[in-house]
Amino acid sequence: MLLALRKRYSEWIIRSALQRINRKRLLLEAIKGDEVECPCCKGRYLVFMPFGIAARRDAHAQCPNCATLPRHRLMWMFLMERTQLLKKPMRVLHIAPEKFFFETFSKHPLVRYVAGDKFAPGYHYAKGTIDLDVTQLDFPEASFDALICSHVLEHVPDDALGMRELFRVLAPGGFAIIQVPLNKRLSVTDEDVTITNPQERERRFGQHDHFRIYGLDLKERLRSAGFMVEVVPYTGQFSYAERFRFGLPTDEDIYYCSKPALSAPTP
Ligand SMILES: [Zn+2]
Repeated sequence: MLLALRKRYSEWIIRSALQRINRKRLLLEAIKGDEVECPCCKGRYLVFMPFGIAARRDAHAQCPNCATLPRHRLMWMFLMERTQLLKKPMRVLHIAPEKFFFETFSKHPLVRYVAGDKFAPGYHYAKGTIDLDVTQLDFPEASFDALICSHVLEHVPDDALGMRELFRVLAPGGFAIIQVPLNKRLSVTDEDVTITNPQERERRFGQHDHFRIYGLDLKERLRSAGFMVEVVPYTGQFSYAERFRFGLPTDEDIYYCSKPALSAPTP
């Protein structure tokens, strides 16, 4: 009886997977074109797909092939253009890994990749992702040459502790890309970790499980954790046509955080 049920369950899983694959293949075929180009998977299409909840739905957002969003494509272009990632050997810690990055980094011969997330109900984690808490990282000091932490800290009550932990595990000379939801009209981060009502969090911070929306003091908050911080107005280097073609955010800076390299001992 149990065996028969397991067999039926396996068949259902396989059937569903095939249907999903076919749907995706049909979609990719239908929107094949040259209006937009995903810098991550190199796919070319007529459009990017809509993404997000109704109140802040972005009509030109998700790559139909690799599922990246504007902020992911921006980070990818920055990483490829301005860092040595994938060009020289690096130990990389990726908090809350996105599918495209996970698949790319975990297979790359120059990357020693650790991907981790705080396993929470309702989220899917790629096989190989480890369970971790960004405020209590189980790694020795200076374990990584590069850190990627995108849209994580707004979920963490004590984000200052999370930033200090990230700084601790970063090796001297290493870098971290830390992305968060940020409102440039706010000089000071709007936060309240005592709000527990999901609707109130969504109204104030944009999502039911966010504790804050960052303001321009993000730079100072990261510096307080020890990082050297360069705020790179990266989208500014692209024309409107290029931002549309690559599906990039309209106006998003990259917070390039680094740890000073150890100076050579004087003879
Ligand atoms: Zn793509």
